[in-house]
Amino acid sequence: MTAAALEETARRLLGEIGCEALAGQVRVRWNNRMRSTAGTAHGQSALISLNPKLLAFGPDEIDRTLRHEIAHLAARFRAGRRRIAPHGAEWKRACHDLGLGAEPRCHDLPLPRRRLAARHLYRCLECRAEVRRVRPFPRKVACLSCCRRFNGGRYHDRFRLVKTDLP
Ligand SMILES: [Zn+2]
Ligand SMILES: [Zn+2]
Repeated sequence: MTAAALEETARRLLGEIGCEALAGQVRVRWNNRMRSTAGTAHGQSALISLNPKLLAFGPDEIDRTLRHEIAHLAARFRAGRRRIAPHGAEWKRACHDLGLGAEPRCHDLPLPRRRLAARHLYRCLECRAEVRRVRPFPRKVACLSCCRRFNGGRYHDRFRLVKTDLP
């Protein structure tokens, strides 16, 4: 899946939800430096960065992550100069418009991190996947693959990543 094809999809989706000006600016890149975050959206530059590790999760997950990040850009674009919360009402509305029905907070890939500095270890109690973080998660985060497999991609407390002692 090429970044150009994903960018084309992003343009089409933004056009469809009435963000034509933004559709002309949006860029999508694969970013090899990303670790456990699935994707990010930078509002000012309209740049969506995707983690190439997503490729292992299949096209549905790539599409879902792309829409999640497009929703961030659309929410910010529609809000103009008004400040909005990253996953607030505006973002949820944009998700809805983009066909991401429920609130997908499963943001992080369940991938191990290799850097020694990642001293915070989390585990999915369902599939035992481990996630290491340099900083602790500031909020509840669930295992992406389990949310996908068992809950249509939506957050479920059962798949919450639980903080574990390092071995
Ligand atoms: Zn997000
Ligand atoms: Zn899991």
